[in-house]
Amino acid sequence: MYFDTHAHYDSKAFDQDRDTLLASMPEQGVELILNPGCELDSSRKAVEYAKRFDHVYAAVGFHPSDIEKLDDAALEQLRALAMEDKVRAIGEIGLDYYWEDYAPHQQQKAGLYRQMELAQELDLPVIFHDREAHADAMEAVRAYPGVRGVFHCFSGAAQQAKELVDRGWMISFTGALTFPNARRAIEAAAAVPRDRVMIETDSPYMIPYPRTAEDKTRRRNSSLRVWQVAARLAEIWQVSLEEAAAITTENGRRFFRIP
Ligand SMILES: [Zn+2]
Repeated sequence: MYFDTHAHYDSKAFDQDRDTLLASMPEQGVELILNPGCELDSSRKAVEYAKRFDHVYAAVGFHPSDIEKLDDAALEQLRALAMEDKVRAIGEIGLDYYWEDYAPHQQQKAGLYRQMELAQELDLPVIFHDREAHADAMEAVRAYPGVRGVFHCFSGAAQQAKELVDRGWMISFTGALTFPNARRAIEAAAAVPRDRVMIETDSPYMIPYPRTAEDKTRRRNSSLRVWQVAARLAEIWQVSLEEAAAITTENGRRFFRIP
C-alpha cells in the first residue's frame, strides 16, 4: 500500500472525476494522500478534501508562483487554516528561479521566510519546492535549524541531499526518478538513508515512465501512478516493490505524524 505524499487534487485536471477518483484510492492500493496548497484557495480545498476523505491529509501554504499574494491578511488566514484538523505541514513553499514571470528572488525569499517562521511557531514541518534555486534554498534551511521539512520532487545533487538529511530533513522523489535522464536523481536516491525517503506523484504533473498510450492524449498524472516511483526506488535499493512501498509509507506516516 502506497502513500502519495504530494498531489494537487484541486487542479482543474481533476474537475471531471475528482470525487470518484479520490474515493477509489484505497481500493486501488493508495492508502494515504497528502494534498498541499499553493495559495489560500487551493489550501482551503486541501483542507476540505481532508475533511471529506479519511485517507487524505492536507498542507497549506503559498507556492513561489503565488507568493505576491502573501500579505499580512493572507498570512493570518494561512495561520488559521494551518490549525484545522488534518493539516500536517506548511506547504508547498520554497523558491523557483526557473520561471521568469515569477516574483523577483528577493520577494520569493521574503515570503518563504515568513512561512518558515509560521512553521516554527506552529511546530509543523514544511514541504519545500526548490527549482533552480539550490543555494538560496539551503540558506533558508540553515537559517531555521528548528524547522524540519521535506524537499519535494528532489532535483538537487547527492551532496545537497546528504546535507538535508544531516539537518534532519526528508527527501521526496516523483516520477522524475523514472525519466530517461534521471541520472542525478538516482544518485541522490542512492546516497540517502532509506528511512529519509518519501515518494509522491506531484499530480497532475510529472507522469512517470513507462508511459501509456493514454498518457499521450490525457497528459494527467494521478496517485494511481505512485507505484512506478516506488518501483524505481526498489530497483535502486535492490529490494522488492512491496518493501519499497512499506518503507516509504512508514516514512511518510512518521514525518507527517499520521498514526
Ligand atoms: Zn507540488
